Amino acid sequence: MLTSNPLHYDLHSHSTLSDGTLTPEALVRRARAQGVDVLALTDHDVTDGLAEAAVTAAEVGLRLISGVEISVTWNGVTIHIVGLNIDPGHIGLQTGLSKLRAFRTERGEEIARRLEKHGIEGALAGAQAFATGPILSRTHFARFLVEAGYARDMRKVFKKFLVHNRPGYVTGNWATLEETVSWICAAGGQAVIAHPARYRISATRLRQFIEAFKDCGGVGIEVVSGSHSASDAAGMAQYAKRYELLASCGSDYHGPGQSWQEPGVPMPLPEGCIPIWKDWATDEEKDT
Ligand code: AMP
Ligand code: MN
Ligand code: MN
Ligand code: MN
Repeated sequence: MLTSNPLHYDLHSHSTLSDGTLTPEALVRRARAQGVDVLALTDHDVTDGLAEAAVTAAEVGLRLISGVEISVTWNGVTIHIVGLNIDPGHIGLQTGLSKLRAFRTERGEEIARRLEKHGIEGALAGAQAFATGPILSRTHFARFLVEAGYARDMRKVFKKFLVHNRPGYVTGNWATLEETVSWICAAGGQAVIAHPARYRISATRLRQFIEAFKDCGGVGIEVVSGSHSASDAAGMAQYAKRYELLASCGSDYHGPGQSWQEPGVPMPLPEGCIPIWKDWATDEEKDT
């Protein structure tokens, strides 16, 4: 029997293991307190927060989905692919993610060198002080630069220093689309295009990307995202339909006061979308 109260899904979030500001435990507690029933922890290029999140999820009665958000370079553009319901113990997936983390370390050194040429000292140590987990993100550089007074807030600091054509930008050399989707599939997961409306590419390019993603075995697209407007969601719902992709929704929460939105904000999928969770077994079914 269907219940009259649909479950509240939030399938994209970050913890201190990547560039979020809440520990996995605190993230799960906050999501639950805000009404989330099913939460995916999707840290950037790392799955180390899932074990702690699962313990808290069991305690507070939230269903945790094992996830990851993988950085991809496709035709020179950085695109994020979320993997949902992955087995974090899968060796191929972990080998792939460890290479991405190694690139993050090298890239961090290069970002710091470039900022130094621009007159900003101590950026590597400054960013590392904000990185409590195993990855170094531009977000950590951004927090350092804001704290050191080089910009007023996160949005401004990215615009001024950390994006294409700015002094602290280093071109991504992430995973290929093919390998990313294959790692996720091999680990038993579903590959989902993260926040598709956020990439600075033309509609034609985005359609080419979606086609390539489908050819590799990708199955889902984030129609609703904390960083999408209502019209972005409507546009992405059209793509979901046209390309027969399952629809996902996620806040992309990074912690209190960080960019994007809070978990627990209602995020209904536009009409006609087929939810990514349509064939997910319930916990009870899995037990039998
Ligand atoms: P990275 O994967 O290290 O290149 O960093 C990308 C991360 O930076 C994203 O996951 C966001 O959390 C953050 N980010 C990117 N652009 C912005 C922005 N304009 N404002 C705030 N955070 C941003
Ligand atoms: Mn992030
Ligand atoms: Mn992302
Ligand atoms: Mn994210």
